[in-house]
Amino acid sequence: MCKKCFTKEYPKFNSTEEFEVFLKEFDEKIAKSIIFIKQEKYKSDIHSIYACENCKTIWWLSDPDNHWRGYFMKAINAKNYIDDDERNGKILKYGCLLIFLILTIFIFLKLIS
Ligand SMILES: [Zn+2]
Repeated sequence: MCKKCFTKEYPKFNSTEEFEVFLKEFDEKIAKSIIFIKQEKYKSDIHSIYACENCKTIWWLSDPDNHWRGYFMKAINAKNYIDDDERNGKILKYGCLLIFLILTIFIFLKLIS
């Protein structure tokens, strides 16, 4: 990893303090070696894209907001992270649907017996 980039990725910001530590490093590097590219939407996620001018690494930043913990990661890792998140969401959705179906069948069988 190059020295002008970030040495650490944050899959989420665990606390305001952690985010502030990150922001401090970010402020020192932005406009010097790290440049803003654009805002982008990927699936249901909206984030800012930054690039390192030195090593061309692409970084995705999502600010924490209320319950959302945000993240700061290399593009490839952030993408995988969002894909995983969406997959987990789907599993949860279909899992709940399945339990609901089983319960309905169970109640129905109870009623007709
Ligand atoms: Zn770099």
